Amino acid sequence: MMDAHSAARVMERCEALGRISEEPDLLVRPYGSETMRRANDTVASWMREAGMSTSRDEIGNLIGRYEGTEDKTLVLGSHLDSVRDAGKYDGILGVMVALACVEQLHDRGVRLPFSVDVVAFADEEGLRFGTTFLGSSAYAGAFDKSRLSLTDRDGETLSEVVRAFGGDPDALENAGRNNRDLLGYCEVHIEQGPVLEQKGLPVGVVTAINGQSRVRVGFVGEAGHAGTVPMEGRRDALCAAAQFVLDVESTAKAEPRAVATVGEISTLPGAVNVIPGEAEQSLDLRHPEDAVRERLRSHLERRAGEIATSRGCEHRWQVRQESAAVPTDPDLSALIGKAIEDTGLCVHRLPSGAGHDAAQVAALTNVAMLFVRCKEGISHNPAESVKREDVGVAIDVMSRLLALLAQDGRPNYRAETSQEISP
Ligand SMILES: [Zn+2]
Repeated sequence: MMDAHSAARVMERCEALGRISEEPDLLVRPYGSETMRRANDTVASWMREAGMSTSRDEIGNLIGRYEGTEDKTLVLGSHLDSVRDAGKYDGILGVMVALACVEQLHDRGVRLPFSVDVVAFADEEGLRFGTTFLGSSAYAGAFDKSRLSLTDRDGETLSEVVRAFGGDPDALENAGRNNRDLLGYCEVHIEQGPVLEQKGLPVGVVTAINGQSRVRVGFVGEAGHAGTVPMEGRRDALCAAAQFVLDVESTAKAEPRAVATVGEISTLPGAVNVIPGEAEQSLDLRHPEDAVRERLRSHLERRAGEIATSRGCEHRWQVRQESAAVPTDPDLSALIGKAIEDTGLCVHRLPSGAGHDAAQVAALTNVAMLFVRCKEGISHNPAESVKREDVGVAIDVMSRLLALLAQDGRPNYRAETSQEISP
């Protein structure tokens, strides 16, 4: 089943999609943008060439469907939006590998006893509105309509952007896919970490996806003249924010497996000779156990308040997004393990530090994930790199998975030989 031609085509398509960008020299493809529309149109044409019918839902997820002989559906997919200055494989690879598997079926004239839906989610990264999984949460019927009033940098609301992208914002809340026919959801994704490379393995099976919290944290002090206001008694909002950034770092360092990042900070009025009157920052907090993450989040909220008080400032704390840790389905994961074993490779199991669409789709059906090795674990960076041979393995494993599911009718295989290994 190993098909070098398929892998080469996936690599070419990742290159082609990597050129569809809002900016000429870097990959930037936010939700609802003209380039997102072009990426969807391009992928839709490939889907149709592979014998699929295509449609889109209210949020703008692209769905390709390869009909089976019975009334059941397996969903494969990932996302087509990007971070700013992104790599070419994050998300995109998963959609392209899924498409390659369907293409192989189509080329051989094979119909499975279930349909295969390939979903290209329209927003996973949250670049435009600072909230992730807009696409997959809508698909899963878990869209939070309070997000519709969020604004992007230009002041456009999510509601306006959804409408301009061709959807009905008022319908989003009830736009989830019906799950009666679903066998499950499998997502191929680059690992975005160094574990598989260290193990010398092209692919691995994901055990769980870390939960995460995204918070907007604001400090409000008092703006003033940088030359005339004495240091004593200043209410410098950026100093409070800076102190909080270091607190975030030390808090995460003290907790095993926790990661926390302040990736954005802005000040008002934002001039060299004015004491910052306001500072606003992001906070991204992740952990594989929800209870630990919630404890850290509460601790940091308390610290933000204490820092503000000690500096005569006020603070704002707005939780923008929370996603629970999601274990993957043991049966579907074991079947992926079996598919890997059948290729002659050993099965490595690892948790995901990054969030993925699969975590949202878990509200709808069983989910599983296959990670693909990426060079030095680098991601969210134009240096993101995967080997064509590894892509070939991923296509092979996913094609075998389809064949195993076709034999089984349902994912009920449990591997005896594989074992849990922590990264
Ligand atoms: Zn991704």
